[in-house]
Amino acid sequence: MFSDLTNKRVLITGSTAGIGLATAALFAQHGAKVGINGMRSEPPAEIATFPGECEFFSADLSRSAGCEALVEAFVARFGGIDILINNAGGLGGRNGLEAIDDEFFDRVMDLNCRSALMVTKFAIPHLRTSARESGATASVISTGSIAAREGGGIGAGLYASAKAWLHNIHRNWVKEFTQDNIRFNIVSPGSIDTAFHHGKSEEVLGKMCASIPMGRFGRSEEVAPTYLFLASHNCSGYITGQVIDVNGGQIAP
Ligand code: NAD
Repeated sequence: MFSDLTNKRVLITGSTAGIGLATAALFAQHGAKVGINGMRSEPPAEIATFPGECEFFSADLSRSAGCEALVEAFVARFGGIDILINNAGGLGGRNGLEAIDDEFFDRVMDLNCRSALMVTKFAIPHLRTSARESGATASVISTGSIAAREGGGIGAGLYASAKAWLHNIHRNWVKEFTQDNIRFNIVSPGSIDTAFHHGKSEEVLGKMCASIPMGRFGRSEEVAPTYLFLASHNCSGYITGQVIDVNGGQIAP
């Protein structure tokens, strides 16, 4: 079913851990050439076990220069980009409205908005070429959030609105780039068991589980296949501009 992903060049930002790493592993298992990215300087140990061609690219994507350098390095290594996954992101800390200052605002927005916007901007010419040369659609998939749908927890309002911004700018990119055969879709996770939730008390985690009809957090491996589906032209060539929620029933928009 995913045979068209063989040899596809897939750049996954924020893929040294959690959802991004599980997604990278799945693409590698399906024969894709995978670019792994994170802020750390060393690759995650797991990628040594991945089949096929994988390369690690260290870059801080909260800076536009890091976004440009990442795309340049990936293209220098693999010769182009067929699939871009904007997954780098995070809470950036918790602050209620009255505690938000310029430094916090910039941190959250740079990490979640600037990163996806600038990586996509620099990737567009390569995605356009991929679509033209292959005759199939190229694909951009960004990681949104359930928080974009419901506003986020107290102190996470900026993060939630940054993800809502991401959900929305995709709708604009559909209008601008469908003529180039580039598709844009969002994977919107609910509560997934990653470092994102480290530091929460057992009590808070228990309350969160109780709000999920399936009664538990999701696993990164349960989110990863949705990226595969949205990347595969065979599976989703007529799907663009959509938000797919992977959340155990936590919210049904
Ligand atoms: P994680 O902390 O395990 O992974 C975050 C990844 O982003 C890491 O690879 C990290 O190196 C990378 N990263 C962080 N800052 C970066 C920067 N400045 N430049 C480049 N890379 C950077 O967390 P996760 O839960 O796997 O998060 C992945 C995505 O999923 C994020 O966008 C997050 O907002 C989103 N998300 C997570 C959940 C959840 O419950 N875990 C829910 C909704 C959305």
